[in-house]
Amino acid sequence: MYIKKQRLLTPGPTPLLPAALHAMMGSDIHHRTEDFRTLYKGVLADLKEVLGTANDVLILVASGTGGLEASIQNFFSPGDELLICTAGKFGERWIELAKAFGMPATILKAEYGNAVSPQQVEEALAANPNFKGVFVQASETSTGTQHDVKAMGAAVKKTDALFIVDAITGVGTMPLDIDGWGLDVVIGGSQKAFMIPPGLAFVAVSGKAWARADVATAPRCYFDLKRERKNAAGGESAWTPNTSLLLALAEALRYIKALGMDNLIANAQMLAEATREAMKALGLQLFSSSPGSSVTAVRAPKGMDSGVIIKEFRNRFNAIITNGQGSMKGQIFRLAHLGYFDFHDLFAVVAELEIILAGQGLPVRFGSGVAAVQNVYAEAALAKEAVLTR
Ligand SMILES: *Cc1c(COP(=O)(O)O)cnc(C)c1O
Repeated sequence: MYIKKQRLLTPGPTPLLPAALHAMMGSDIHHRTEDFRTLYKGVLADLKEVLGTANDVLILVASGTGGLEASIQNFFSPGDELLICTAGKFGERWIELAKAFGMPATILKAEYGNAVSPQQVEEALAANPNFKGVFVQASETSTGTQHDVKAMGAAVKKTDALFIVDAITGVGTMPLDIDGWGLDVVIGGSQKAFMIPPGLAFVAVSGKAWARADVATAPRCYFDLKRERKNAAGGESAWTPNTSLLLALAEALRYIKALGMDNLIANAQMLAEATREAMKALGLQLFSSSPGSSVTAVRAPKGMDSGVIIKEFRNRFNAIITNGQGSMKGQIFRLAHLGYFDFHDLFAVVAELEIILAGQGLPVRFGSGVAAVQNVYAEAALAKEAVLTR
């Protein structure tokens, strides 16, 4: 009866930048040509600039998990002792990978909704000098939790261990001083704050990590980072690249550079803050005790399955938002802020959430959540006016 535009509002894949989407049409080029080398070199340079690192940055044809796997394969050997911080489903992926590659792991586990503290990392490192690597998620997307990677990095830096940071939803949502904080291997993914479809993983590698790559013996072939580095120096990828995604990435990086990485991060932070205020105004509880800015995990009202909210967003408004993963399914819903999200999206999401909750019989005063978002916007964004309007 009414028009319902489809809106993808999940923390990955995220909404696509139109210019990036359009650029994908130009993918009828060959990857061993000068045209391609110009594109690839430009993308690699822009990626480095946007990530703010002097380290090598490489691109893999894979979803983010391929980047995680590559970071285990290229810098470690079977039998290496690893220290894994886990605070959710993505932390558990590190554990799975360590197991797959025969590396014994000591686990620092935070219950879902909590973060592992830098003190825990420091103490674990002090208790066992044999750890070869420390693994964490900068932003644990499954619970909306942020880790203090700066303080963790300071602890790891003093040891021989490498610090491996899954920043797949950390990049573009929180400050990450890769070189200054000693983040040896940082993994990003295309379908998060980079505003393009899934299919590319990014890996930033420090000198300390490259030295380890020379002695690491874990089996690898497709994700051979030294081979990628050698090819990248000549403007090419080791294997056939995902040309259409690289064309999209070039546009997205152009956009992010024009906006400024700081502003991309501030955008996510402001939307996250406004979301937290709106949830408070609606009497809803946050799931995380250490909420980050990539995604806000919210507990469903008492006695309600969060799936009802997901379904209502889908059926009433054709908007795709995400449920909890694993055992958190039914308990929480997640509102994303990373990449190409704006206040317009958030006003609609909060207004629609009010309608959905009222429809479930909750005592909602229409406009109370929206007003909270308006207040944050008025205070922060109107004052700053540093927002790109395209
Ligand atoms: C999305 C995501 C990944 C990668 O998942 P893929 O499905 O392989 O892209 C890894 N870690 C975190 C924290 C993520 O949010």
